[in-house]
Amino acid sequence: MANASLYWFRQDLRLADLPGLIAASKSGQVIPVFIFDEALGGDWKLGGASQWWLHHSLQKLAADLRAIGSRLVLRRGETVHVIAQLLEETGAQNVFASRQYQPWADETEQGVRKVAESAGGAFKRYPGTLLFEPENIRTGGGTPFKVFTPFWRACLKQPAPAQPQPAPTLTSPNEWPHSDVLDTWELCPKKPNWAQGWDTLWTPGEAGASTALNTFLESHVNRYGDGRDFPAQPNTSRLSPFLKFGEISPRQIWWTAQNAKQRSPNEGGSIDKFLSEIGWREFCNHLVTQFPAMPDRAWNPKFEYFPWQRHAANLTAWQSGNTGYPIIDAGMRELWQTGFMHNRVRMVVASFLTKHLLMHWREGEQWFWDCLLDADLASNACSWQWVGGSGADASPYFRIFNPIAQGEKFDKSGVYTRHWVPELAEMPDKYLYKPWEAPELTLKAAGVELGKTYPNPIVDHREARETALEAYATLKNVAMA
Ligand SMILES: Cc1cc2nc3c(=O)[nH]c(=O)nc-3n(C[C@H](O)[C@H](O)[C@H](O)COP(=O)(O)OP(=O)(O)OC[C@H]3O[C@@H](n4cnc5c(N)ncnc54)[C@H](O)[C@@H]3O)c2cc1C
Repeated sequence: MANASLYWFRQDLRLADLPGLIAASKSGQVIPVFIFDEALGGDWKLGGASQWWLHHSLQKLAADLRAIGSRLVLRRGETVHVIAQLLEETGAQNVFASRQYQPWADETEQGVRKVAESAGGAFKRYPGTLLFEPENIRTGGGTPFKVFTPFWRACLKQPAPAQPQPAPTLTSPNEWPHSDVLDTWELCPKKPNWAQGWDTLWTPGEAGASTALNTFLESHVNRYGDGRDFPAQPNTSRLSPFLKFGEISPRQIWWTAQNAKQRSPNEGGSIDKFLSEIGWREFCNHLVTQFPAMPDRAWNPKFEYFPWQRHAANLTAWQSGNTGYPIIDAGMRELWQTGFMHNRVRMVVASFLTKHLLMHWREGEQWFWDCLLDADLASNACSWQWVGGSGADASPYFRIFNPIAQGEKFDKSGVYTRHWVPELAEMPDKYLYKPWEAPELTLKAAGVELGKTYPNPIVDHREARETALEAYATLKNVAMA
């Protein structure tokens, strides 16, 4: 097949503003391909919730490709082997793709490069996942940044990201290779179907991403600056799963936000704050390219000696939202029931696991990896290490969130907590975050029987705090080479 190329989709499941796809379209016939390589990533292969999203995202991408007269070829197996097979079957020579930043991406790409070269073609990789390529952002001394604020300042001094490009026209091959049927991959849970109802909460795919961005910028961004910490309020964009799967490009977000700023200069502060959070996503990828072991090992090596504890019952109580601390339980249940958790609550539950329960941040990172629709290797690892104190530019370990005060401050009227912990729906505000202090009569009137209808706290806040600080103090004696 003359001048045919594969476009190898990974976490870039969109047609618009995809430089690699545009380049492929200019080179001749294009065969769009997605490979489900179950082993890719080892311990970090796609988690359960992400698989649900992937299924729906691929369905939408296939439909979008059909609408422009093309197709999506689905194949399952080891990536390099499948690409080699496809090149042979179709006679295509080149493989186009977008750059990805996972630690295993380079090795896989080297394999793809080899098979493309053996077929007489080349592997051609394009940006499209980040606003700024990590190697282009350097300190005055030429080294990578380790602290967010100067990193983002340096990003903002770069020339503005290029304007997003529309979806290209694709020329089809004369003959399409065989494609798997998506349903046979069984990406969605069945028995039990723990994702029931998720399709009413989320609309994966490029159109859903664009709606989420526009709705946020039109209706919610004005409250983002000072309202993004309140989990009961719809003040954040909920774009993270779309970004994780590349259904929207950060350039599209950047420019749509810049245009919104021009239309509504009063909202400039909120919009800049929102863009700086997109900057955190860039920063996490910047850190992972410096330290690819970040998902598994502490950035600050001293923390490899932290006296983490193992306690299966406490871990289960945390995972299932039965710790006896209402704001923690609300967050963990939101996660299980929707595949998402508000950022403020993510910070509080992560602090509780690593400080009140003294459990390794990796336990939390792995649970989030399986349960989050937006589970992203770089953002998840960096955020867990940020909360747990071991990361670059981390929150210091001794800053321990008080789960009672956090609930009282960020969900004062209890709308979020009562929704996810309905057994406390009738508790008066005064005791909502510390039901164990409520008088017997109050508990009875609220229909709460501690230890029966709602758990007693699994640890005492003050004691746990002291124990965590003592554990942290042991690091002072660790001498590093
Ligand atoms: C323990 C912990 C684990 C996390 N794991 C993930 C993860 O696996 N995947 C993930 O995308 N985010 C993760 N985050 C970051 C953050 O919680 C989510 O990105 C955010 O809640 C997504 O909601 P949103 O899209 O409404 O965010 P918005 O506030 O609307 O922000 C816009 C976008 O900016 C990015 N962003 C925002 N905050 C952060 C941050 N702190 N770090 C990196 N990027 C950020 C996201 O892409 C987000 O969609 C984690 C945070 C914590 C504390």
